[in-house]
Amino acid sequence: MAGYIPKPQLVNRLTSRIFAQNYADTVATPQVIIIGAGVAGLTAAIELERAGHRPLILEADDRPGGRLKTDQHEGFLLDRGFQVLLTDYPEVQRYLDLKALDIGTFRPGGHVHTRQQRFRFADPLREPAQLFRSTLSPIGTLSDKTKLAQLSLSLRATSNEDCFRGYEEKPTQDYLWELGFSEQIVERFFRPFFGGIFLELDLSTPAGLFRYIFKMFSQGSAALPAGGIEAIVHQLVGKLEHTEIRCGVGVTAVNGDTVTLDDGSTIAAPGGIIVACPPTKVLPRLAGSPVEWKSTTNLYFYSSRRLRENRLINLVSDPTSLINTFCVLDEVAPSYKMEGQGGSLISVTLRRPLDRESSIGQAEQDLLRHSRLPNDALRFLKRYDVRQALPDLSRVAFRQDPTHGRVMDRIFLAGDHQLNGSLDAAMRSGRLAAEGLLRV
Ligand SMILES: Cc1cc2nc3c(=O)[nH]c(=O)nc-3n(C[C@H](O)[C@H](O)[C@H](O)COP(=O)(O)OP(=O)(O)OC[C@H]3O[C@@H](n4cnc5c(N)ncnc54)[C@H](O)[C@@H]3O)c2cc1C
Repeated sequence: MAGYIPKPQLVNRLTSRIFAQNYADTVATPQVIIIGAGVAGLTAAIELERAGHRPLILEADDRPGGRLKTDQHEGFLLDRGFQVLLTDYPEVQRYLDLKALDIGTFRPGGHVHTRQQRFRFADPLREPAQLFRSTLSPIGTLSDKTKLAQLSLSLRATSNEDCFRGYEEKPTQDYLWELGFSEQIVERFFRPFFGGIFLELDLSTPAGLFRYIFKMFSQGSAALPAGGIEAIVHQLVGKLEHTEIRCGVGVTAVNGDTVTLDDGSTIAAPGGIIVACPPTKVLPRLAGSPVEWKSTTNLYFYSSRRLRENRLINLVSDPTSLINTFCVLDEVAPSYKMEGQGGSLISVTLRRPLDRESSIGQAEQDLLRHSRLPNDALRFLKRYDVRQALPDLSRVAFRQDPTHGRVMDRIFLAGDHQLNGSLDAAMRSGRLAAEGLLRV
């Protein structure tokens, strides 16, 4: 490719699977460069390929995927941070083959752990057989349960766009009070459940995202791919036939139609540039305010004693505990554990990020208490501190005009921070940026 001087030490780090044949020989359309091989960048590449382009993706990390990464550790699959695939996300339906991902699904409902008790709650709209159990559960008042069912029905009848419209900035907590939910259900259900999704327990995330995700949970499932969350990335990469992904190549600046790499070399992109990563570093003058981030700490434990949770998530509504949620991953997706291995793989998400020096001993004690496992059953496996887990957005959006991400001539922005901080938003933003670029 014209103007590209490969950095020898980086060439060795290129991901070998992801290659166009002889790239220089095949370029027929003006070169488009995508910066970042997260799901936003990969989705943009899929759309550009459909329009006949042969994009080049430059990725700073040693492999594609961005925040969707899965490690193999002692025979377990460990995602870097607990995350789920919501099967009803429109962009998931558009781009992913869920059957090929061989997904396992969580059951609707969960277990709640308060300081004094543990109880099960169910979603009677999804599991009518659980109506009796759900009517009796102390998750909230009878009025709360009626309101929950009404909210679920009304959001199912609301368009995705209208889930957001008018709720782009109002904090979720204010919205819940306005709907008249009691403190009991907010503390026992909404705060741990949605706080775990938003990675903040104040529920200050705008209600538009709450309404959208509530709708997605009401009508679809939360799932894990058999190959771990990173299998999503492998499937997207597998769709690319004419895209080259160069890994281990960080971009330091974008100027006009040229990108500068971290070794000082430049590549021309006359076809345009999609910045599918936080833009502040590469476009300091045009990017606007820097993206603020929310962090999380995720711990993995192996229990030699099988923990039976029936594919349900555990919500901890006990302010004395470090834990916010935990779940047995191999019940949902058995391949997260080696075939034939007994016991359980437990993923734990903490109420707030642990500072690096803190030990995980207290979290382990809390997990023993909530799970009622014997003291010697748990073995700590690994800790993930994800510093830039989700963008901290005071305003959320569902869709924007494809030209919205345009910052200059043929330079477009993509990434979940553009819309609402979710896998769906990342894919949508990538698609919109590609559509915008194809229009100019
Ligand atoms: C712990 C955790 C839990 C989550 N839970 C959920 C969930 O349950 N459901 C859900 O829908 N979403 C969830 N998410 C969010 C979801 O993972 C993200 O929205 C999505 O992966 C973001 O994709 P992206 O392409 O926008 O950004 P990223 O994945 O961050 O990709 C950006 C890419 O750009 C690269 N890059 C950055 N700077 C440069 C540079 N200068 N040069 C070259 N490359 C660069 C990065 O290395 C990265 O690969 C979760 C995320 C985390 C971390």
